[in-house]
Amino acid sequence: MARQNQDISSQEIIALEDKYGCRNYSSLPVALSRGEGVFVWDVEGKRYYDFLSAYSAVNQGHCHPRILEVLKQQASKLTLVSRAFYSDQLGKYEKFMTELFGYDRLLPMNTGVEGGESACKIARKWGYDVKKIPKNQAKIIFAEGNFWGRTLSAISSSSDPTCYDGFGPYMPCFELIPYNDIPALEKALQDPNVAAFMVEPIQGEAGVVIPDDGYLKKVRELCTKYNVLWIADEVQTGLGRTGKMLAVEHEGVKPDIVILGKALSGGMLPVSAVLANNNVMDVITPGTHGSTYGGNPLACAVATEAIKVILEEKLSENAERLSAVFREELEKIPKSKVTTVRGRGLMFAIVVDNSIPAYEVCLRFRDAGLLTKPTHGQTIRLAPPLVITEEQIREGARIIQKVFESFKK
Ligand SMILES: *Cc1c(COP(=O)(O)O)cnc(C)c1O
Repeated sequence: MARQNQDISSQEIIALEDKYGCRNYSSLPVALSRGEGVFVWDVEGKRYYDFLSAYSAVNQGHCHPRILEVLKQQASKLTLVSRAFYSDQLGKYEKFMTELFGYDRLLPMNTGVEGGESACKIARKWGYDVKKIPKNQAKIIFAEGNFWGRTLSAISSSSDPTCYDGFGPYMPCFELIPYNDIPALEKALQDPNVAAFMVEPIQGEAGVVIPDDGYLKKVRELCTKYNVLWIADEVQTGLGRTGKMLAVEHEGVKPDIVILGKALSGGMLPVSAVLANNNVMDVITPGTHGSTYGGNPLACAVATEAIKVILEEKLSENAERLSAVFREELEKIPKSKVTTVRGRGLMFAIVVDNSIPAYEVCLRFRDAGLLTKPTHGQTIRLAPPLVITEEQIREGARIIQKVFESFKK
């Protein structure tokens, strides 16, 4: 169904952004105008497999008909009232989400970074009110390689100079320890002023970095032992991506605070959420936190449907099942070209040998009809929408294999 948009070419679209936009991205040169399921189309009508899924925001596939229908219905009834008033959507959504994930309360926000920021605020307040940390001394520990967005707080915990350089001064009392390092964590948590440890169950932006088995269990044990809140940033790993609704379920552990975002709206609009139990969430009282759009009726209706799609279409199970298929296909690429294949569920990364530039690989993927982008240096993330079928993932893998064959070695 190639439909050509006659008005404007890819070249012209790229030139427009280059001239009038803030140059904060170096996008892959492809200009898209339509999406459906695992596919996107550029303005010239060429079809591509989307193997990035907007960083796992479109786990449910592009323009999922059920989510789209709810979006349209709700948008024509009521979209925003602010929290000055109640809406008929928010409470229902909060009940649905807290029962599903097993927490007492939900704080609705918009972007992922606002979810992280809110979790940090809750943790600090808990540190003073409950743990009795002296005023203005609460610390939060983060892991090196973390990524949780672009606000001043988020970059203050970053170990990537591209993220933080030139934007100081930074948030005080944020400390870094190595990821997947239990002794370093135990040492850090002994400081009585530590309120929280915030960590991704698998580091996404760092290039799908998977910790050792048992790491999350140990994190849980240590945070309990030292009376520190464990904040799990599931913005990218959550909602089916790794083969479970939450990646922490792989180790059967429960964080004190969970942050969700990205696929929470199936790509329709920015929706994030913070989940916690009463003993934690109750430190927030009227007037101490908020957001104009947070919890808006449109977001609540869309998020509820987006979650129902993941559950009813068994997208976690699909990710789990196709994980083995995809891994097997990726491992057919010679080690001289792809040195590492790693992933869980349908969250994969390959590391390309230094003799082949990863960016050039992504350009050839594009030409062959598959889209993704390198993360750090030679690492390429591969994360298709979870609605992908076995036939489609094998076809995607064949494109990937063919592109690597095109590099003579
Ligand atoms: C993308 C991401 C965020 C930030 O989400 P935004 O919606 O871009 O603000 C936070 N945490 C993780 C793990 C992410 O991958």
